[in-house]
This record gives sequence, structure tokens and C-alpha cells, in this order.
Amino acid sequence: MNMFEEKKQKQDMIDKAMSGIKHLVAVGSGKGGVGKSTVAVNLAISLAKKGFKVGLADADIHGPSIPTLFNIENEEVMGKEIDGKMFIVPFEKYGIKLMSVGFFVDPSKALMWRGPMASNTLIQILSETLWGELDFLIMDMPPGTGDVQLTLASQFKVSGSVFVCTPQQLAVADVRRAVNMFTDKGINIPVLGLIENMAYFTPKELLDKKYYIFGKDGGKGLAEELGIELLAQIPISEDISQTNDSGNPISMDFSSLEAEAFMELADRINNKLNK
Ligand code: ADP
Repeated sequence: MNMFEEKKQKQDMIDKAMSGIKHLVAVGSGKGGVGKSTVAVNLAISLAKKGFKVGLADADIHGPSIPTLFNIENEEVMGKEIDGKMFIVPFEKYGIKLMSVGFFVDPSKALMWRGPMASNTLIQILSETLWGELDFLIMDMPPGTGDVQLTLASQFKVSGSVFVCTPQQLAVADVRRAVNMFTDKGINIPVLGLIENMAYFTPKELLDKKYYIFGKDGGKGLAEELGIELLAQIPISEDISQTNDSGNPISMDFSSLEAEAFMELADRINNKLNK
């Protein structure tokens, strides 16, 4: 087999594996630590609560956090043989199909991975998972713009991307780079919008108040500057942080202010993709 045939065979395999997925949505960010995984997880849960079939793929190869956020770090990955080939059975929790590179590698070792090795492993994991039929597969991307993001964006049919930032993130440059990578002519992935995380604080005893600790219109200004829509402002909240740590995402609690913000985000994304 020559190189061209090999490449085509690989692409066919990816397309076949993802063929039951209606919308692949990439969640990216300019920097790490802004709450990208938190948004990906709660967006996935909110869509599942609306009755959609949802999967969540943890592609954050240098810092996979889905196993922790779902408290399934010690689970064993199961395989299934189909036509003589082994496939990965995704975990299911809260009605969501989950797969993470973190199930296969020690996160401290994944940090050392570079370029093609990281990209190839990730593609393998994503395209060998038995996703079945899904309305949405949410992909938690690595932060920034590197080989892994470029490979994922160019080899998978992504319906849309969203970017997470915080108001403290004064440098626009890295978010812009991430947005530009997706909208580049060769890649052409629609950018659905920006999500400002940790945008304001609402004390539990003053539910009608919003305190913009880090400044009010940072997210709005950044979205305008990038020429994209501001899709959501998520509050900074002790409950988000605690539920993350306990593997019990905040959106499972229907009544909270935080869950409402994520539900609105899910509605917006669904409306944009299923118009
Ligand atoms: P990233 O995926 O961008 O690296 P994470 O989702 O892992 O970011 O979040 C980074 C840290 O910030 C985690 O400890 C998480 O629990 C916390 N965090 C994220 N969003 C919020 C929020 N809205 N309120 C409070 N803590 C948050």
C-alpha cells in the first residue's frame, strides 16, 4: 500500500467510526485552566437532560480530566471484537457515553507526548470507540493551538466549535489564535461563539445579584473584538469547584443557578446547529 492509499484508509476508518454522530462540537480555549473541561462536561449533561443522545470525548491529551470529573478514574476499559477487530466500549454515566485518553495512559506520562505520537494516539482512541448513534459528541480539546488540535480539526468533521475564556484573561492573542486556527481556509470549522467562565459571582443569599469581580463586559468585549457571539456567562461558584472535585457535575442538580446557565448554553448551541 502506498502512502496515499494508507492515508485514505485511515481517513475512511475515522469517517466510518464517526458516521452515527450528527454533530461533533469542539470545546477549545486559548489557555489552560479557564474551565474548558468544566464547560464541556456540563454542556454534555445539559444536552442529555434535554433528551439528546450525547457522548463526551476527552481529547485534552496533556491533561485529561474527564475521568476525575465523572469519578471513574479506576474503571477498566472494556473491548469488543467486531469482524476480527477490537473496539473500545465507551463508559456510560449520567446517560453520557464517555471516552478519555486518560483511561489508557498515566496522565503524568501523557505530558511528555509530543506532536505526531500524541495526535495518532488520540485519533486511534476516538475512531476505535463504539459511539453508536449520537446527536452530539462534545470534544474537550487541548488548550491552545498545536499539532493535536490541528489534526483533530482537520480529520474529524466538526459541526461547530466554542471557546472558553475567563474575564481575567487579558491577552486576547491566544484566544484569537485558537479561533483563527478553526476558521482557517484549510479547516473551515464554524465558530459558534465564546463562553465567559467565572464571569460573575452571585451569593446564595442574594440570588438576584451579580457581582462582576473581574470587570463586567470583558467577555462581551472579547467576543466583539473576535467577531463572534458571546454564548454564555457562567458564574464563579464554590459549588462548581466542589462538584468538579467530587465527580458529580453541577448540572446534575436541576435547580441551581449554575445548571440554568449551562442549560441556556445547551439551548443556544442546539438552536445554532439544528436550525
Ligand atoms: P481547563 O479544562 O480549562 O484546564 P478546568 O475545567 O479543569 O479547566 O477548570 C480549572 C479549575 O477551575 C478546576 O479546579 C475547576 O474545578 C475550576 N473551575 C472551573 N470553572 C469554575 C467556576 N465557574 N467556578 C469555580 N471554579 C471553577
